[in-house]
Amino acid sequence: MDTRPDYRALLATAVAEARLGLAEGGIPIGAALFNAGGTLLGCGHNRRIQENDPSVHGETDAFRKAGRQRGYRDTIMVTTLAPCWYCSGLVRQFNIGTVVVGESVNFTGGIDWLRENGVNVIDLQDEECIAMLGDYIAANPDVWNEDIGED
Ligand SMILES: [Zn+2]
Repeated sequence: MDTRPDYRALLATAVAEARLGLAEGGIPIGAALFNAGGTLLGCGHNRRIQENDPSVHGETDAFRKAGRQRGYRDTIMVTTLAPCWYCSGLVRQFNIGTVVVGESVNFTGGIDWLRENGVNVIDLQDEECIAMLGDYIAANPDVWNEDIGED
């Protein structure tokens, strides 16, 4: 019997966070951390613009909101976009076992590196995620380049 959670259902939480960020005037990237059974531990979104804080990415926000966990091997980090190097580092540091990404079209991030290091990466190639961030990048190229550390 397949007891894995419905990854698309989990993605909906991250997408809702991304929409919230967009409504706040921020970059539309959201994330959520779940336990193995699909129970939400914490969720958040990129707030670099809102809080003038480049360290608040969707994944780091969700991670912090989840508070202290006994272990992360069985947790699932769900994010609307492939995690950047900073967030990929977080996944490796805490041994998060599974990463579900909404898309890797707009940005590939560290997903190949995560896979090479044994992280189970599931790329849903979700059309809504691709369009939401793609539209944002097209309208705000400077903001985007700052977010991913490009000059
Ligand atoms: Zn990041």
